[in-house]
Amino acid sequence: MKIILHFLPILFSFPLGFAQQEMKSYQSEYFYILVIDGPRFSETYGDSSCTQIPNLCKQLKPQGTFFENFSNNGKTLTVPGHTAIMTGVYQKISNIGAGLPKNPSLFQYYLKQSGKPSHDAQIISSKGKLNVLADSKNKTWQKETKPTSFCGPKGDVLRYGPDSETIKMVKDTVSSQHPPHLLLVNLLGVDTWGHGNNWNKYLENIRLTDRYALDLWNTIQSNPILKDKTTLFITNDHGRHLDGIKEGFKEHGDGCEGCRHISLLVLGPDIPKNQTRKNAAEMIDIPSTIAHMMHVDFPTGKGRFLSELFGNLENNK
Ligand SMILES: [Zn+2]
Ligand SMILES: [Zn+2]
Repeated sequence: MKIILHFLPILFSFPLGFAQQEMKSYQSEYFYILVIDGPRFSETYGDSSCTQIPNLCKQLKPQGTFFENFSNNGKTLTVPGHTAIMTGVYQKISNIGAGLPKNPSLFQYYLKQSGKPSHDAQIISSKGKLNVLADSKNKTWQKETKPTSFCGPKGDVLRYGPDSETIKMVKDTVSSQHPPHLLLVNLLGVDTWGHGNNWNKYLENIRLTDRYALDLWNTIQSNPILKDKTTLFITNDHGRHLDGIKEGFKEHGDGCEGCRHISLLVLGPDIPKNQTRKNAAEMIDIPSTIAHMMHVDFPTGKGRFLSELFGNLENNK
């Protein structure tokens, strides 16, 4: 009898501890990802006076946790970058939208496991070619449980549309009575003017997207359904070449520090405020972190749960 009593606490404490660790519940129910396409870190947070991004730096950053050593460790192009954010896997994929991602996305896993309708997970993108993110090459998933996508002008899935139209559609969606639980947004202006080799327009579009980011956060907070229940990830698909490397800011796509070094700012009711994390993290960690917070099983994602968002500072060196 004595032996049984001795072991009882162990029998009871193990399943409880396990449950607490695995099933921690979060206040967030909605998870939105804003991808600002192609700014260099040196023109955003890397500039200590934050000349081009006053809203992100001075208004939003103090309300969230910022990762200053955040990277795209795969191919530093638009479709591969967004594919990594959606599927949690770096893979070779056409950058003109000629092929589908190999692996199912977090959005597909979520729709399948929740049984929610397609419009509960949405992709709204200025670049039409990002429509490929709505599906997967994987036979079991192809054409099944596809998120709703609206990519390119009037959703034509081909051309490039203005960010002003994209953000209008995003705001309509976010202000609605049935906002999606998952949303990915792509804004292209910075990248387009970079390729246009127009430095002033490139900077002007960084300032514009800075305003759009604040606008999106304010729109989220003004919908009572989303207020204090939404985590927003503000990030990039890639940077651009450092000065002196190939064509400099005009192009991107290799492994230089300018192309790899991007940023991540996370805001939401579960996220510590005014924190900067110095440890390395990368874009494939975004879907794994959301999957963990939503309790969605995401077996093909190769990233990690960013536990340092919630006070695990072991790696914060
Ligand atoms: Zn580009
Ligand atoms: Zn480069």
